[in-house]
Amino acid sequence: MSFKNFPLVSKVVFGRGSFNQLGEILAPLRKNENAPFIFLVDDVFENDSSFVSKIPLLYADRIIFISAKHEPKTCQVDTLVENIILSSSILPSGIIGIGGGTIMDLAKAVSLMLTNEGYCEDYQGWDLIKNKGIYHVGIPTISGTGSEVSRTSVLTGPTKKLGINSDFTPFDQVILDPELTKDVPKDQWFYTGMDCFIHCVESLKGNFINSFSETYGNTALNLCKDVFLNSLPQNESQDKLMMASWHGGMSISYSQVGVAHALSYGMSYLLGVKHGIGNCIVFDQLEAFYPEGVRIFRQMKAKHNILLPKGVCSNLTQKQFDSMIDIALSLEPLWENALGKDWKIKITRPLLKDLYSKM
Ligand code: NAD
Ligand code: ZN
Repeated sequence: MSFKNFPLVSKVVFGRGSFNQLGEILAPLRKNENAPFIFLVDDVFENDSSFVSKIPLLYADRIIFISAKHEPKTCQVDTLVENIILSSSILPSGIIGIGGGTIMDLAKAVSLMLTNEGYCEDYQGWDLIKNKGIYHVGIPTISGTGSEVSRTSVLTGPTKKLGINSDFTPFDQVILDPELTKDVPKDQWFYTGMDCFIHCVESLKGNFINSFSETYGNTALNLCKDVFLNSLPQNESQDKLMMASWHGGMSISYSQVGVAHALSYGMSYLLGVKHGIGNCIVFDQLEAFYPEGVRIFRQMKAKHNILLPKGVCSNLTQKQFDSMIDIALSLEPLWENALGKDWKIKITRPLLKDLYSKM
C-alpha cells in the first residue's frame, strides 16, 4: 500500500484586513523591476476603486480583470499565458489570483503553463506537470470551493472537465481575509457555501474516509451548520465560512468527493451550469445516497429562501443525456469512494438518466 504524500500551501495569512499586507508579502519575492507581478482579478471588482487601489502595483505590474461568469477553460489559460509572455521580456515574479474558485483555478494554471510547454489541455489529469510553476498566490473573495488549499485547478477543455492535479499546483501563499467576501450576493454565497457542505458530506460518507479527512471534514461540516442554520453576526459568519472552505478542501485532499460531484461535472460540461449551483441542483436529488446530508441541505435551503432552477435537463436529447452520463461515469474514483469497488453493478445508465431527468 502506498500512502498519498501531498504538498500543502506553504504560507498562509488569516484575518480581517490581512489583504492590506499583500504589498509587504510580495516585496521580497520580486525578482527585479522588469519581472512584474500579474494580478488576475475577478471583474466584479473592476469598478470598486477603493478595492482596486489596495492592489499594490509597482513598476510594470499589471491587473488583468477576468469575468467569472463562465467556468474557467483551458483555452482561456493559453490566451492569458500568451498575453503575459508577449507583454514582458522575462517571466513574471508571480501570479496573484483574487476571486472565487474560477479566478484562483485560472491563477494556478497560468502559473504552471508559464513554465510548461504546449497547451493547457495536455495537462488535464494527474501528475502530468513536469516543471514547477512560477510563484503564485491565492486570495479568495468568496468561500466554499477549497480551491485555495487544493492541489488541483479544475478546467473545462475541448473534450473534458478535469483538473490539473499536481504537486506544483497548490499556492505558495494564500491570504484569507474574510472581509473580502462582504459583498457576495446571497444566492451565490449559498451555492458556493454548499460546495463546501457537499465536499464534507461526500468525504465523510465515502469509503476513502480516514482520521485525517474525518477531522477536517467534521470541523468544516460543523462550521457550515453553524453558518447556514444559525443566525450568526455577519463578521463571524464570514470568518467561519472561510475556515470551513479551507477545512473542507483539506478533507477531500486526503479522501475524495462522490456522487454529487460526478453528476455535476457531467452537467456543467454539457450545459455550462456553474459548479456551486450545479452541485445544489444535483444534491437535492440524492436522498438515496446521502439521506442525512440532503435533509440538512433542504433545511438550509428553506432557511435562506433559496429557489433552485427546475427542469434544467427537461429538454435534452438522448445524445445529450449520453454525453453527461459518459462524463459522470468517467470519474471512477468518485464512484468508488461513494459506493465501493463494485459501484458498476449499482450504477446503471438508466438510473443516471432517471436522476438527471428530475433535475
Ligand atoms: P466563482 O469564482 O465562479 O464566482 C461566482 C460568482 O461570485 C461570480 O459571479 C463572481 O464574480 C462572484 N464573486 C466572487 N467574489 C465576489 C465578491 N467578493 N463580491 C461579489 N461577487 C463576488 O465561484 P466559486 O464557486 O468560488 O468557484 C467555482 C469554480 O471553482 C468552478 O469553476 C469549480 O470548478 C471550481 N472549483 C475548484 C476546486 C479546486 O479544488 N480547484 C474545488 C471546487 C470548485
Ligand atoms: Zn466542489
